[in-house]
Amino acid sequence: MAYAPLLADTRAVPVRVNLYSDTQTKPTAPMRAAMAAAEVGDEQLGLDPTVNALTARVAALLSKEKAVFLPTGTMCNEIAILVHCRAGDEILAHETAHIIAAEGGAPWALAGARVRGLAGDRGIVSTAALEAAITHPSRYSAPQRLAVAEQTSNLGGGSIWPPAALADFARVAKAAGLATHMDGARLMNAVVATNIPATEMTAGYDSVWIDFTKGLGAPIGAVLAGSEAFIDACWVWKQRLGGALRQAGIAAAACLYALEHHVERLAEDHANAARLAAALAGLQHFSVETPQTNLVFIDCRASGRRAAEISAACRRKGLMVSTMGEWRLRACTHLDVDAAKIDEAVAILAEVLA
Ligand SMILES: *Cc1c(COP(=O)(O)O)cnc(C)c1O
Repeated sequence: MAYAPLLADTRAVPVRVNLYSDTQTKPTAPMRAAMAAAEVGDEQLGLDPTVNALTARVAALLSKEKAVFLPTGTMCNEIAILVHCRAGDEILAHETAHIIAAEGGAPWALAGARVRGLAGDRGIVSTAALEAAITHPSRYSAPQRLAVAEQTSNLGGGSIWPPAALADFARVAKAAGLATHMDGARLMNAVVATNIPATEMTAGYDSVWIDFTKGLGAPIGAVLAGSEAFIDACWVWKQRLGGALRQAGIAAAACLYALEHHVERLAEDHANAARLAAALAGLQHFSVETPQTNLVFIDCRASGRRAAEISAACRRKGLMVSTMGEWRLRACTHLDVDAAKIDEAVAILAEVLA
Protein backbone atom coordinates (compact mmCIF):
# COMPACT_ATOMS: atom_id res chain seq x y z
CA MET A 1 0.00 0.00 0.00
CA ALA A 2 1.22 3.46 -0.88
CA TYR A 3 0.86 6.16 1.73
CA ALA A 4 -0.04 9.76 0.98
CA PRO A 5 3.03 12.01 1.15
CA LEU A 6 3.26 13.90 4.43
CA LEU A 7 4.33 17.08 2.71
CA ALA A 8 3.84 18.52 -0.75
CA ASP A 9 7.11 18.10 -2.62
CA THR A 10 8.19 21.60 -3.47
CA ARG A 11 11.86 21.33 -2.76
CA ALA A 12 12.55 23.84 -5.53
CA VAL A 13 10.95 26.60 -3.44
CA PRO A 14 13.02 27.60 -0.44
CA VAL A 15 11.20 27.70 2.89
CA ARG A 16 10.87 31.26 4.14
CA VAL A 17 8.67 30.64 7.17
CA ASN A 18 8.27 27.24 8.74
CA LEU A 19 5.12 27.01 10.86
CA TYR A 20 4.66 23.31 10.13
CA SER A 21 5.51 22.16 13.65
CA ASP A 22 7.59 23.04 16.69
CA THR A 23 9.48 19.83 15.90
CA GLN A 24 11.13 21.66 13.00
CA THR A 25 13.55 23.65 15.17
CA LYS A 26 17.26 23.11 14.58
CA PRO A 27 19.61 22.90 17.57
CA THR A 28 21.24 26.28 18.17
CA ALA A 29 25.01 26.78 18.20
CA PRO A 30 25.23 26.92 22.03
CA MET A 31 23.03 23.83 22.28
CA ARG A 32 25.40 22.01 19.92
CA ALA A 33 28.34 23.20 22.00
CA ALA A 34 26.71 21.75 25.12
CA MET A 35 26.20 18.47 23.26
CA ALA A 36 29.81 18.39 22.14
CA ALA A 37 31.05 19.02 25.68
CA ALA A 38 28.76 16.43 27.33
CA GLU A 39 30.24 13.87 29.68
CA VAL A 40 28.98 10.49 28.56
CA GLY A 41 28.84 6.83 29.57
CA ASP A 42 26.77 3.71 28.92
CA GLU A 43 23.17 4.84 29.47
CA GLN A 44 21.84 1.29 29.51
CA LEU A 45 24.01 0.55 32.56
CA GLY A 46 23.01 3.78 34.30
CA LEU A 47 26.52 5.12 33.73
CA ASP A 48 25.82 8.19 31.62
CA PRO A 49 26.23 11.14 34.00
CA THR A 50 24.48 13.62 31.70
CA VAL A 51 21.44 11.37 31.25
CA ASN A 52 21.38 10.79 35.01
CA ALA A 53 21.49 14.55 35.66
CA LEU A 54 18.64 15.07 33.20
CA THR A 55 16.38 12.36 34.59
CA ALA A 56 16.98 13.54 38.18
CA ARG A 57 16.13 17.07 37.15
CA VAL A 58 12.93 16.11 35.31
CA ALA A 59 11.80 13.83 38.16
CA ALA A 60 12.12 16.83 40.51
CA LEU A 61 10.45 19.19 38.05
CA LEU A 62 7.45 16.87 37.78
CA SER A 63 7.56 15.84 41.45
CA LYS A 64 8.00 12.11 40.81
CA GLU A 65 10.40 9.61 42.38
CA LYS A 66 12.25 8.59 39.28
CA ALA A 67 12.49 9.18 35.53
CA VAL A 68 13.82 7.50 32.40
CA PHE A 69 15.29 8.98 29.22
CA LEU A 70 13.68 7.82 25.98
CA PRO A 71 14.26 8.77 22.34
CA THR A 72 10.73 10.06 21.69
CA GLY A 73 7.50 11.07 23.29
CA THR A 74 5.69 8.30 21.45
CA MET A 75 7.89 5.78 23.23
CA CYS A 76 7.06 7.47 26.57
CA ASN A 77 3.33 7.10 25.93
CA GLU A 78 3.60 3.55 24.68
CA ILE A 79 5.92 2.27 27.40
CA ALA A 80 3.67 3.88 30.02
CA ILE A 81 0.66 2.14 28.44
CA LEU A 82 2.54 -1.17 28.30
CA VAL A 83 3.34 -0.90 32.01
CA HIS A 84 -0.11 0.25 33.12
CA CYS A 85 -2.22 -2.04 30.90
CA ARG A 86 -2.66 -5.65 29.85
CA ALA A 87 -4.22 -7.02 26.66
CA GLY A 88 -7.97 -6.49 26.65
CA ASP A 89 -7.86 -3.40 28.87
CA GLU A 90 -9.53 -0.12 28.05
CA ILE A 91 -7.88 3.30 28.21
CA LEU A 92 -9.94 6.49 28.47
CA ALA A 93 -8.70 9.62 26.70
CA HIS A 94 -10.07 12.54 24.73
CA GLU A 95 -11.22 11.49 21.27
CA THR A 96 -8.56 13.70 19.63
CA ALA A 97 -5.72 12.29 21.78
CA HIS A 98 -2.31 11.78 20.19
CA ILE A 99 -2.33 8.15 21.40
CA ILE A 100 -5.42 7.58 19.22
CA ALA A 101 -4.62 9.84 16.28
CA ALA A 102 -0.90 9.72 15.72
CA GLU A 103 0.93 6.72 17.15
CA GLY A 104 0.19 4.17 14.45
CA GLY A 105 -2.35 2.35 16.60
CA ALA A 106 0.37 1.44 19.10
CA PRO A 107 -1.85 1.09 22.21
CA TRP A 108 -3.80 -1.73 20.58
CA ALA A 109 -0.93 -3.00 18.41
CA LEU A 110 1.58 -3.27 21.27
CA ALA A 111 -0.34 -3.42 24.55
CA GLY A 112 -3.56 -4.89 23.16
CA ALA A 113 -5.42 -2.10 24.92
CA ARG A 114 -8.27 -0.22 23.29
CA VAL A 115 -8.53 3.54 23.72
CA ARG A 116 -12.04 4.85 24.18
CA GLY A 117 -12.28 8.45 22.92
CA LEU A 118 -14.25 10.84 25.10
CA ALA A 119 -15.81 14.13 24.07
CA GLY A 120 -14.94 17.55 25.44
CA ASP A 121 -14.32 21.13 24.38
CA ARG A 122 -10.92 21.79 22.81
CA GLY A 123 -9.41 18.49 23.90
CA ILE A 124 -10.36 18.80 27.57
CA VAL A 125 -12.45 15.91 28.94
CA SER A 126 -15.18 17.12 31.27
CA THR A 127 -15.70 15.37 34.58
CA ALA A 128 -19.22 14.48 33.43
CA ALA A 129 -17.92 12.83 30.25
CA LEU A 130 -15.39 10.80 32.22
CA GLU A 131 -17.99 9.77 34.80
CA ALA A 132 -20.38 8.72 32.03
CA ALA A 133 -17.69 6.56 30.41
CA ILE A 134 -16.83 4.62 33.57
CA THR A 135 -18.36 1.16 33.37
CA HIS A 136 -19.29 -1.00 36.33
CA PRO A 137 -16.74 -3.83 36.38
CA SER A 138 -18.28 -7.01 35.06
CA ARG A 139 -17.28 -10.10 33.14
CA TYR A 140 -18.79 -8.46 30.02
CA SER A 141 -16.97 -5.14 29.85
CA ALA A 142 -13.33 -4.47 29.05
CA PRO A 143 -11.39 -3.80 32.27
CA GLN A 144 -10.82 -0.06 32.47
CA ARG A 145 -7.23 0.50 33.48
CA LEU A 146 -5.92 3.93 32.56
CA ALA A 147 -7.09 7.51 32.05
CA VAL A 148 -4.91 9.80 29.93
CA ALA A 149 -4.86 13.60 29.90
CA GLU A 150 -2.92 15.50 27.23
CA GLN A 151 -1.43 18.81 28.44
CA THR A 152 -1.57 20.85 26.26
CA SER A 153 -4.10 19.26 23.96
CA ASN A 154 -2.54 19.22 20.51
CA LEU A 155 -5.60 18.73 18.30
CA GLY A 156 -7.66 20.64 20.85
CA GLY A 157 -5.72 23.68 19.65
CA GLY A 158 -2.79 23.82 22.05
CA SER A 159 -5.39 24.29 24.75
CA ILE A 160 -4.58 24.13 28.45
CA TRP A 161 -6.31 21.88 30.95
CA PRO A 162 -6.85 24.14 33.99
CA PRO A 163 -5.28 22.51 37.08
CA ALA A 164 -8.76 21.97 38.52
CA ALA A 165 -9.80 20.02 35.40
CA LEU A 166 -6.65 17.89 35.65
CA ALA A 167 -7.30 17.24 39.33
CA ASP A 168 -10.97 16.35 38.76
CA PHE A 169 -10.10 14.02 35.88
CA ALA A 170 -7.53 12.24 38.04
CA ARG A 171 -9.87 12.09 41.05
CA VAL A 172 -12.72 10.49 39.08
CA ALA A 173 -10.34 8.05 37.40
CA LYS A 174 -8.75 7.02 40.70
CA ALA A 175 -12.12 6.62 42.40
CA ALA A 176 -12.95 4.09 39.67
CA GLY A 177 -9.65 2.28 40.26
CA LEU A 178 -7.90 3.55 37.14
CA ALA A 179 -4.28 4.62 36.89
CA THR A 180 -3.58 8.10 35.48
CA HIS A 181 -1.11 9.18 32.82
CA MET A 182 -0.30 12.61 31.46
CA ASP A 183 0.93 13.06 27.90
CA GLY A 184 2.89 16.21 28.67
CA ALA A 185 4.48 16.68 25.26
CA ARG A 186 3.84 20.44 25.65
CA LEU A 187 3.35 20.59 29.41
CA MET A 188 6.00 23.31 29.72
CA ASN A 189 4.00 25.49 27.33
CA ALA A 190 1.08 25.22 29.77
CA VAL A 191 3.37 25.98 32.72
CA VAL A 192 4.79 29.11 31.09
CA ALA A 193 1.41 30.31 29.77
CA THR A 194 -0.29 30.00 33.17
CA ASN A 195 2.64 30.59 35.51
CA ILE A 196 1.46 27.55 37.46
CA PRO A 197 4.23 25.14 38.48
CA ALA A 198 4.34 21.77 36.74
CA THR A 199 4.03 19.96 40.08
CA GLU A 200 0.58 21.44 40.58
CA MET A 201 -0.53 19.99 37.25
CA THR A 202 1.10 16.57 37.60
CA ALA A 203 0.06 15.86 41.20
CA GLY A 204 -2.77 13.43 40.42
CA TYR A 205 -0.87 11.54 37.75
CA ASP A 206 0.96 8.25 38.21
CA SER A 207 3.08 8.84 35.13
CA VAL A 208 3.93 11.93 33.10
CA TRP A 209 6.47 12.86 30.47
CA ILE A 210 7.74 15.94 28.68
CA ASP A 211 9.06 16.18 25.15
CA PHE A 212 12.31 18.00 24.44
CA THR A 213 11.87 18.04 20.67
CA LYS A 214 8.81 20.29 20.55
CA GLY A 215 9.01 23.90 21.73
CA LEU A 216 12.08 23.16 23.84
CA GLY A 217 14.09 22.80 20.66
CA ALA A 218 16.29 19.74 21.28
CA PRO A 219 16.90 17.27 18.44
CA ILE A 220 16.22 14.00 20.32
CA GLY A 221 14.68 12.97 23.60
CA ALA A 222 11.81 12.83 26.04
CA VAL A 223 11.72 11.97 29.74
CA LEU A 224 9.06 9.81 31.40
CA ALA A 225 8.60 10.08 35.18
CA GLY A 226 6.72 8.16 37.86
CA SER A 227 7.23 6.07 40.99
CA GLU A 228 10.42 4.09 41.37
CA ALA A 229 8.56 0.79 40.80
CA PHE A 230 6.87 2.21 37.69
CA ILE A 231 10.15 3.42 36.15
CA ASP A 232 11.84 0.10 36.93
CA ALA A 233 9.05 -1.63 35.00
CA CYS A 234 9.48 0.89 32.16
CA TRP A 235 13.12 -0.14 31.87
CA VAL A 236 12.10 -3.68 30.95
CA TRP A 237 10.07 -2.31 28.02
CA LYS A 238 12.82 0.16 27.10
CA GLN A 239 15.13 -2.82 26.76
CA ARG A 240 12.55 -4.93 24.90
CA LEU A 241 11.75 -2.22 22.39
CA GLY A 242 15.37 -1.40 21.70
CA GLY A 243 15.18 1.94 23.46
CA ALA A 244 18.11 1.26 25.81
CA LEU A 245 20.89 3.59 24.73
CA ARG A 246 24.65 4.00 24.97
CA GLN A 247 26.38 7.42 25.08
CA ALA A 248 23.04 9.20 25.14
CA GLY A 249 24.49 12.07 27.17
CA ILE A 250 25.13 13.81 23.88
CA ALA A 251 21.36 14.01 23.39
CA ALA A 252 20.59 14.58 27.09
CA ALA A 253 22.97 17.58 27.13
CA ALA A 254 20.73 19.29 24.58
CA CYS A 255 17.73 18.59 26.80
CA LEU A 256 19.48 20.02 29.88
CA TYR A 257 20.46 23.06 27.81
CA ALA A 258 16.81 23.41 26.77
CA LEU A 259 15.65 23.31 30.41
CA GLU A 260 18.10 26.12 31.24
CA HIS A 261 17.53 28.33 28.22
CA HIS A 262 14.37 27.45 26.33
CA VAL A 263 11.60 27.25 28.91
CA GLU A 264 10.96 30.91 29.79
CA ARG A 265 11.22 31.88 26.15
CA LEU A 266 8.17 29.76 25.28
CA ALA A 267 6.32 32.96 26.20
CA GLU A 268 7.67 34.46 22.97
CA ASP A 269 6.14 31.61 20.98
CA HIS A 270 2.82 32.24 22.69
CA ALA A 271 3.02 35.96 21.90
CA ASN A 272 3.83 35.15 18.27
CA ALA A 273 0.89 32.74 18.10
CA ALA A 274 -1.39 35.49 19.44
CA ARG A 275 0.09 37.91 16.89
CA LEU A 276 -0.59 35.45 14.08
CA ALA A 277 -4.14 34.72 15.23
CA ALA A 278 -4.96 38.42 15.55
CA ALA A 279 -3.70 39.16 12.05
CA LEU A 280 -5.50 36.16 10.53
CA ALA A 281 -8.75 37.14 12.20
CA GLY A 282 -8.58 40.22 9.99
CA LEU A 283 -8.48 38.10 6.81
CA GLN A 284 -11.78 37.13 5.25
CA HIS A 285 -12.66 33.44 4.96
CA PHE A 286 -10.56 32.30 7.88
CA SER A 287 -11.89 31.63 11.30
CA VAL A 288 -9.23 31.34 13.95
CA GLU A 289 -9.46 29.82 17.41
CA THR A 290 -7.85 32.09 19.99
CA PRO A 291 -4.57 30.33 20.81
CA GLN A 292 -3.72 29.59 24.42
CA THR A 293 -0.15 28.53 23.68
CA ASN A 294 1.91 28.06 20.48
CA LEU A 295 -0.57 26.28 18.20
CA VAL A 296 -2.90 28.25 15.94
CA PHE A 297 -5.78 26.37 14.32
CA ILE A 298 -7.39 27.94 11.29
CA ASP A 299 -10.77 26.90 9.93
CA CYS A 300 -10.77 27.62 6.19
CA ARG A 301 -14.23 26.30 5.27
CA ALA A 302 -15.61 29.77 4.52
CA SER A 303 -12.96 30.19 1.82
CA GLY A 304 -14.40 27.20 -0.04
CA ARG A 305 -10.84 25.91 -0.42
CA ARG A 306 -9.66 22.81 1.35
CA ALA A 307 -6.83 22.88 3.88
CA ALA A 308 -4.59 20.69 1.68
CA GLU A 309 -4.98 23.09 -1.26
CA ILE A 310 -4.23 26.16 0.85
CA SER A 311 -1.26 24.47 2.48
CA ALA A 312 0.16 23.47 -0.94
CA ALA A 313 -0.34 27.02 -2.26
CA CYS A 314 1.42 28.41 0.83
CA ARG A 315 4.31 25.99 0.32
CA ARG A 316 4.76 27.23 -3.25
CA LYS A 317 5.28 30.68 -1.75
CA GLY A 318 7.69 29.47 0.92
CA LEU A 319 5.33 29.09 3.88
CA MET A 320 4.90 25.73 5.60
CA VAL A 321 1.75 25.05 7.61
CA SER A 322 0.19 21.67 8.38
CA THR A 323 -3.27 20.35 7.64
CA MET A 324 -5.32 18.85 10.45
CA GLY A 325 -8.43 17.68 8.67
CA GLU A 326 -10.21 18.67 5.49
CA TRP A 327 -10.93 22.28 6.49
CA ARG A 328 -8.42 22.82 9.26
CA LEU A 329 -4.89 24.19 9.08
CA ARG A 330 -2.38 24.35 11.91
CA ALA A 331 0.35 26.92 12.29
CA CYS A 332 2.84 26.35 15.03
CA THR A 333 5.21 28.96 16.47
CA HIS A 334 8.62 28.05 17.84
CA LEU A 335 12.24 28.97 18.54
CA ASP A 336 13.13 29.57 14.88
CA VAL A 337 10.27 31.99 14.18
CA ASP A 338 10.24 35.64 15.27
CA ALA A 339 7.57 38.34 14.97
CA ALA A 340 8.89 39.47 11.56
CA LYS A 341 8.49 35.90 10.25
CA ILE A 342 4.93 35.88 11.55
CA ASP A 343 4.18 39.03 9.56
CA GLU A 344 5.73 37.39 6.49
CA ALA A 345 3.50 34.34 7.01
CA VAL A 346 0.42 36.54 7.26
CA ALA A 347 1.33 38.29 4.02
CA ILE A 348 1.73 34.94 2.24
CA LEU A 349 -1.60 33.64 3.55
CA ALA A 350 -3.30 36.87 2.44
CA GLU A 351 -1.80 36.45 -1.07
CA VAL A 352 -2.94 32.84 -1.22
CA LEU A 353 -6.49 33.80 -0.24
CA ALA A 354 -6.64 36.79 -2.60
C1 LIG B 1 4.46 15.14 19.49
C2 LIG B 1 3.50 14.54 20.43
C3 LIG B 1 3.67 13.24 20.90
C4 LIG B 1 4.77 12.33 20.40
O1 LIG B 1 6.02 12.81 20.66
P1 LIG B 1 7.24 12.41 19.68
O2 LIG B 1 8.43 12.94 20.39
O3 LIG B 1 6.95 13.10 18.38
O4 LIG B 1 7.23 10.93 19.52
C5 LIG B 1 2.77 12.76 21.82
N1 LIG B 1 1.75 13.51 22.25
C6 LIG B 1 1.54 14.77 21.83
C7 LIG B 1 0.42 15.55 22.38
C8 LIG B 1 2.40 15.32 20.88
O5 LIG B 1 2.19 16.56 20.44
